[in-house]
Amino acid sequence: MLHVDRIADLRAACERARAAGQRVGVVPTMGFLHDGHRSLIRAARRDADFVVVTIFVNPLQFGANEDLDRYPRDLAGDLAQCEAEGVDCVFAPSVAEMYPRPPATTVHVADLTSDLCGAARPTHFDGVTTVVTKLFAIAGPCAAYFGRKDAQQLAVVTRMADDLNLPVEIVGCPIVREADGLAMSSRNAYLSAGDRAAAPTLFAALRAGVGRIVDGERDPSRVIAMIRAVVGTEPRLALEYAEVRDAHELTELATIDGSVLIAVAARIGGTRLIDNVHLRVEGADVVADLGVKRDVNDAPAHA
Ligand code: AMP
Repeated sequence: MLHVDRIADLRAACERARAAGQRVGVVPTMGFLHDGHRSLIRAARRDADFVVVTIFVNPLQFGANEDLDRYPRDLAGDLAQCEAEGVDCVFAPSVAEMYPRPPATTVHVADLTSDLCGAARPTHFDGVTTVVTKLFAIAGPCAAYFGRKDAQQLAVVTRMADDLNLPVEIVGCPIVREADGLAMSSRNAYLSAGDRAAAPTLFAALRAGVGRIVDGERDPSRVIAMIRAVVGTEPRLALEYAEVRDAHELTELATIDGSVLIAVAARIGGTRLIDNVHLRVEGADVVADLGVKRDVNDAPAHA
């Protein structure tokens, strides 16, 4: 496995792969890899010949009072996991390599970024779209794999690639969950034992909302009320938002129909958690993507 930290080296490796007729697959991450990341790597491994994992805790996407300094990092562990997954190249640049000076140029996707997580994190998505654009410019034509865990990010990056004609196919991958339903996240490492035990109530609330829809409810406000009620049973959870939206445009829905996203964010202790369920609703038919359980045969990413 190639391990590079220079932009020029990643660019050269991707160009070499394409020159040899290989399809490049890129998995952008902030490291501290877990089975959610590994599922993206496996999807890339299935489709692509030359799989690149990028590991970069991007300062631009953290707000002033957020967790940039304490964000968990474990490059040695990440490299071992990438090796085990058959990754071809890990790109783990320094901040100075990616931002030798503060960028005068940033990428902003309007509308899709203004609410949901954008309301509490007003500079976050510009940081994401700017670094992802840089990674795409370095890697060149490729497929890029993103988790549906960050549903708004996936919608934003998909729109950006489309608007800017980037030579990148954006591939969305299912949410990977712990056995008790909690969506896997590097930030779960922050949770105290008590908060960790309480956190799955967020997914339980989403499931209750989905249950209402399966039972025929099509009024978003009633589904949201159900989610709020379930989250309210867990005093440790402070709900930030619960929303029912069009899954692609992220616009509000008058009635639940078509491709629908139910998204929630909540604070627990000092940690902000997000989760969502994607549904296809056609008449009485409802198909919900509740995600997948982590592969219990795999060793825990961080024991
Ligand atoms: P991060 O390292 O948190 O920036 O995440 C890197 C990528 O992994 C993003 O595309 C995330 O959506 C994806 N990801 C993170 N957690 C999960 C999960 N539990 N299931 C699926 N994808 C995930």
